[in-house]
Amino acid sequence: MIDSHRIRHFRADRVWTSQGWQEDGVIGVDASGHVAPAEGPAERLGAWALPGMPNLHSHAFQRAMAGLAERRGRTDDSFWTWRETMYAFAAAIGPDELKAIAAQLYVEMLKAGYTQVCEFHYLHHRPDGGTYAQPEAMSLALIDAAREAGIALTLLPVLYMSGGFDGRALAPRQCRFGHDVQAYLRLLDNLRKQETGDLRVGMALHSLRAVPEHALRDVLAAELPRDMPIHIHIAEQIGEVQDCLATRGQRPVEWLYDHVDVDSRWCLVHATHLEDHEVAQIAHSGAVAGLCPTTEANLGDGLFPLGDYLDAHGSFGIGSDSHISISPVEELRWLEYGQRLATRHRNIATRREGQSVGEVLWRSALAGGTRASGLSIGELSEGRRADVIVLDDDAPQLAARGAASLMDSFLFAGNAPLVRDVMVGGQWVVRDFHHRDEAGIAARYRAVVEQLATS
Ligand code: ZN
Repeated sequence: MIDSHRIRHFRADRVWTSQGWQEDGVIGVDASGHVAPAEGPAERLGAWALPGMPNLHSHAFQRAMAGLAERRGRTDDSFWTWRETMYAFAAAIGPDELKAIAAQLYVEMLKAGYTQVCEFHYLHHRPDGGTYAQPEAMSLALIDAAREAGIALTLLPVLYMSGGFDGRALAPRQCRFGHDVQAYLRLLDNLRKQETGDLRVGMALHSLRAVPEHALRDVLAAELPRDMPIHIHIAEQIGEVQDCLATRGQRPVEWLYDHVDVDSRWCLVHATHLEDHEVAQIAHSGAVAGLCPTTEANLGDGLFPLGDYLDAHGSFGIGSDSHISISPVEELRWLEYGQRLATRHRNIATRREGQSVGEVLWRSALAGGTRASGLSIGELSEGRRADVIVLDDDAPQLAARGAASLMDSFLFAGNAPLVRDVMVGGQWVVRDFHHRDEAGIAARYRAVVEQLATS
């Protein structure tokens, strides 16, 4: 029985629902932080309230190296030269550094309107590859950081075993990423004991090049919850597609679908390089394509075939990945703009005449991100976790905007932050543009990056 006295009520002139804007909407929030039946007097939040966005792909430590790989190297720069910078940077990061960096990142995510993050976490061991006294120390640093910041977390410990499709051993700098299957499953079990309404543990396979076929079979056959999310990097780079073709005779997506029963638990991150039949395979399987447009642009990855994928009714969500940008607005804007530049057409994300691009993008990314996070979020409907963002009534960008044009103005007009208040699981974590602990978290972050810069 719900104790109706313990339900708080919030009202906005318009509340975003799966059907669009609801006029004079009331959101009930129960004591456990979930959306409850709405009745009774309500506190007014503002003009526009909508569900917070899940961020389906993050490598938290990379936040501290954003901007440090933008100087041209001796040869043609690519993802692979960027990866060298990333490996060198990662070598100096232990649990305390990771916690400080992740807490700062998560504050920035909340202020941008992300209320859930899927952390694709592979920095497991000490820099020399030895295990920490507490083997899951780095995972716990991420959990602590998320709790401190107040963002909900889907922790995806990564299985990373080989340095290439040929099964070669990990290079010295990759040793801290590695597990055998048994140790990996123990890690998952230990972390699953900590699960709560705002912490879900899922599985991540780094990529087909890093997880040999026998290991893939073994982890997928392990006794784990049937609804556990499974994430994998797939087909981000042309070189990766060519290596897969050379060693396995198939492209990565083709190979995966030929060998594994891929369903809606799966999130295929950076499914960038696809042929038509692979687009159809992903769309029909119900898997979510995990798209990270600003990182994919920054790394020179290539463009996801969004129009074909939407024609095939595919699901997608967005992630900030390397954190060169931390903004759902910018991810969705660039998802659409990349397509416009490539096709020399406009309004690609919607296929229906008269439909709003902004509405389709936000709604689709909410649904795909929710599925990838493995939690009941993404809508302000009864029983879902109460993750709410409230936009700034006073922002000039939103002046004279009605329900028909609000989402397009939110996503495409200007650069001033429009997210004023943020609630996660019924708790206000950002009010009037300020996070509750932002000064202390930023000071600790600054001390850590200054020390990393001199070490
Ligand atoms: Zn990634």
